[in-house]
Amino acid sequence: MRLVLLGPPGAGKGTQAVLISERLGVPHISTGDLFRANISQETPVGLEAKKFLDAGDLVPSEITNRMVEARVAEPDAENGFVLDGFPRTVGQAEALEGILQNIGTKLDAVLSLVVDEDVVVERMLARGRADDSEDVIRNRLRVYSEETAPLIKHYDGLVVTVDGIGEVEEVNARALAALGH
Ligand code: AMP
Repeated sequence: MRLVLLGPPGAGKGTQAVLISERLGVPHISTGDLFRANISQETPVGLEAKKFLDAGDLVPSEITNRMVEARVAEPDAENGFVLDGFPRTVGQAEALEGILQNIGTKLDAVLSLVVDEDVVVERMLARGRADDSEDVIRNRLRVYSEETAPLIKHYDGLVVTVDGIGEVEEVNARALAALGH
């Protein structure tokens, strides 16, 4: 299955993406994790991306799309993947369509995790990641509502909506049931 997970920062996408990818036996591809790995290894992509992550801004799509194109072409992603944090704009969604078309495939579903804004701020402050200071969190939420939320409409027809409030296992059971697993 080729799946995209959508939801605001702090919605628990990463946690659910790991569990879903384990269940489906396909890799979890997180663009945030890929950027953080590049930053810690000081690769050219990492050096370029760091200032955007630090500010909670989106890394330019040329860089992001190229990184995703390379990752989904790896052999472990041949039978599917769970994409977490990509696409984040309608332009990236269009790029993804092209990337998948080139390898003769397409998305099967988009899972939208719905969580109230107060809950996501609370969760992010609790996790204490480098880009989890209050003003950076506020910026990431603004970027989400302006750039990423329109994807729910863009993917109309593919979207499966799941309530993201509750225990990890409970949300996971809902997500798998919604995906028919
Ligand atoms: P995440 O781990 O998904 O919360 O992403 C952390 C940060 O990585 C974001 O705030 C962006 O700076 C960057 N990032 C992750 N995914 C993307 C993407 N699809 N497009 C642009 N920037 C991204």
